[in-house]
Amino acid sequence: MTEFTNRVALVTGASRGIGRAVASAFASRGARVVVHYNQNTASAEETLASLPGSGHMIVKADVSDSNAVKIMVDHAARRMGTIDILVNNAGIFEEHPPLKTDFEDWVNAWKKTIDINLMGSAHASFCAARHMIKTGGGRIINITSRGAFRGEPDAPAYGASKAGQNALSQSLAKSLAPHHIYVYAVAPGWVATDMAADHLEGPEGDAIRAQSPMNRVAKAEEVADCVVFLASEGHDFMTGAVIDINGASYLRT
Ligand code: NDP
Repeated sequence: MTEFTNRVALVTGASRGIGRAVASAFASRGARVVVHYNQNTASAEETLASLPGSGHMIVKADVSDSNAVKIMVDHAARRMGTIDILVNNAGIFEEHPPLKTDFEDWVNAWKKTIDINLMGSAHASFCAARHMIKTGGGRIINITSRGAFRGEPDAPAYGASKAGQNALSQSLAKSLAPHHIYVYAVAPGWVATDMAADHLEGPEGDAIRAQSPMNRVAKAEEVADCVVFLASEGHDFMTGAVIDINGASYLRT
């Protein structure tokens, strides 16, 4: 028996990056994991094959499609018996600098970013909460971003989507606590994944690392450790918290 034995964790965007690390962290502690992805089937299957333990499954859905989200969550809950933990991790970061983007591209960037990052989390949370209530409770953890606080001059829709996810977490923390569903937001700074690779490997890489006095960015595993901490027993009263993981690169009080 380990900490998450008999628990089911649905991790969105688990084909790579932070989601894959979160899936692995839960599986190595005994959970059965639902590995969600959108396009990258080979990579999602690689995540699935790498997970220790048994009883895991894979699901595919575009989280910007509300019907697909509902079908995906209900299918996973039916197959696994329930969903105890939902990690809303799937997301995109696309640049649309206000003074260099034409209006049509600007509108499209906002719609796409909000639909995936914010609406996807809202709808998956709505659907998963219905299953959690039936089994007496659960945990929802949203992967947001330091960009919600620090500003994203070249990707304002991203910053807004992440601020929205923080607010979503806090609102759901209030509405779902009576049903023993506890909701948290984890707000990383830069993390070494595909999403950040171009920036970290480019000319601005050193400056990005230097944003932290530790002179590095986070590892996906460090974000995963925090997610596991929040999902484990004993942290119920932290519900509504937004936890920074940014190596002191941006401090707020
Ligand atoms: P990656 O780009 O490495 O992975 C993104 C994941 O999201 C993939 O699994 C991808 O699936 C999935 N995804 C993308 N679009 C959709 C969609 N429309 N529907 C369903 N799934 C989708 O990202 P990271 O691991 O870096 O980021 C994970 C989360 O962490 C994101 O929410 C991001 O905003 C946040 N974050 C990341 C930071 C960083 O520096 N990396 C910093 C702060 C926050 P597929 O592979 O199938 O396309």
